[in-house]
Amino acid sequence: MMLIRLIYSSRALEQLRDTDVDQILRVSMERNAKAGVTGLLVYSAREFLQCLEGGRDVVNATYQRILRDPRHAEVTILDYAEVAQRWFPDWSMRQLPPLALNRRRLLRYFPRELFTPGRLSAAGASALVHELAEEQVDTAPSSGTLQRR
Ligand code: FAD
Repeated sequence: MMLIRLIYSSRALEQLRDTDVDQILRVSMERNAKAGVTGLLVYSAREFLQCLEGGRDVVNATYQRILRDPRHAEVTILDYAEVAQRWFPDWSMRQLPPLALNRRRLLRYFPRELFTPGRLSAAGASALVHELAEEQVDTAPSSGTLQRR
């Protein structure tokens, strides 16, 4: 089946607690593992950036559920592409540790030293997610491990 990578940004309706994000992650990992979806979730200062990869049907269905989720708004597709391989084969959903969004990286990808994923171009979103994927290669856990921020 054809592999798709979808990257979107969104904004939490209110500042979420760690436990709220953990709950989103737990449901995501469970459902994604069943559907064969993998990816990355970044949450910082009310902003989400998420990468979903997998078969086209399951990625689209997952995205449609996410779109209806009342916990966030301004859900915007940044990039949607057919791809040859996954960047996150070991993660049904991985949350990025906050240190990964360091000053240097923020300035490389954003106009100011602020995580504003909704402003990323398709190329910028894809480059940032790819860079984060490359970094986690050595730290890949057995699937299902919950990553705390
Ligand atoms: P149900 O569990 O039947 O819930 C019904 C409705 O209530 C849905 O609209 C649901 O979104 C909403 N809801 C559920 N819990 C809460 C809550 N605590 N507070 C308010 N509303 C709630 N799901 C995935 O499967 N894979 C992902 O990768 C994924 N990533 C996500 C990323 C973000 C940023 C967010 C906000 C959500 C994500 N989700 C993901 C969760 C997804 O939006 C759905 O909640 C989940 O897939 C369950 O869908 P459901 O239709 O079975 O909803």
